[in-house]
Amino acid sequence: MSVFNEPQFHNEEAAYEFVEARVWAKGRSCPHCGETERTGKLNGKSTRIGVYKCYSCRKPFTVKIGTIFEGSHVKMHIWMQAIYLIAASKKGISANQLHRTLGVTLKTAWFMGHRIREAMRSDDLTPFGGNGGAVEVDETFIGHDRSIKPYGEKKGRGYHHKYKVLSLIDRTTGKARSMVVDDLKASTLGPIVVENLDREARLMTDEASYYTQVGKHFAEHGIVHHNRGEYGRGDIYTNTIEGFFSIFKRGMKGVYQHCAKRHLHRYLAEFDFRYNNRAALEISDRERAENLLRSVTGKRLTYETVGV
Ligand SMILES: [Zn+2]
Repeated sequence: MSVFNEPQFHNEEAAYEFVEARVWAKGRSCPHCGETERTGKLNGKSTRIGVYKCYSCRKPFTVKIGTIFEGSHVKMHIWMQAIYLIAASKKGISANQLHRTLGVTLKTAWFMGHRIREAMRSDDLTPFGGNGGAVEVDETFIGHDRSIKPYGEKKGRGYHHKYKVLSLIDRTTGKARSMVVDDLKASTLGPIVVENLDREARLMTDEASYYTQVGKHFAEHGIVHHNRGEYGRGDIYTNTIEGFFSIFKRGMKGVYQHCAKRHLHRYLAEFDFRYNNRAALEISDRERAENLLRSVTGKRLTYETVGV
């Protein structure tokens, strides 16, 4: 049976109930005044679906307030389809594909995609590598900037690349954390690595010089010498993060070819989220979509912040 036979994917009322059960898992509260007890569902014939009334401040509200759904005219069951599709696709899904599959305009599809990516963004700032765990750190590049000349001349790693991405993977938890960086200077990368790693961590990098200094902050700095044809020695390797980058690059190349720098952090959030909720961690497509739905709160994106 198709997953989409489930009512939240085609019945608007069921879709609201599905979202309410997850966003209000710890109980419903009025988004205007915080009232938790005296609120009730409005069931009049002319009432819109999902409207509640607060008997404390007298204002109406829905589950959409304060979430990525706020201010959107797209039906909730269509949102449920979009979330499932994005959560279940291995390499991401383009705005064009969402537009064709869901029957919304391209502009709406693009906006929905970015709101969903925003929900995928993790708020967890816990340092990686606590209790002496290994953390792999590496950088990668997205796109070429041919305006930088002369193209192909050796000017240091990443010189001709448009965007630079730094990622960390905690080998113990299997979680990834990625960010956009302006350059690959030790003075740029060092503080980020220090901020995101526990002092007890065992840092694993390649031989790039910009990790030399920062490596001294941690219990150990294992260096893989790729330039000597080395792939790793014992548990000193960076294969995990290289695997992560290959999925990320395939997705960015195949699906999200034209990505502006101001949106790149949201695509990174998407690939981090999917990796951190991957099938190898025994998380199904359905659970991944549910995890996404649980973090739609406090992630509101407007046209202004998205910069349309
Ligand atoms: Zn209220």
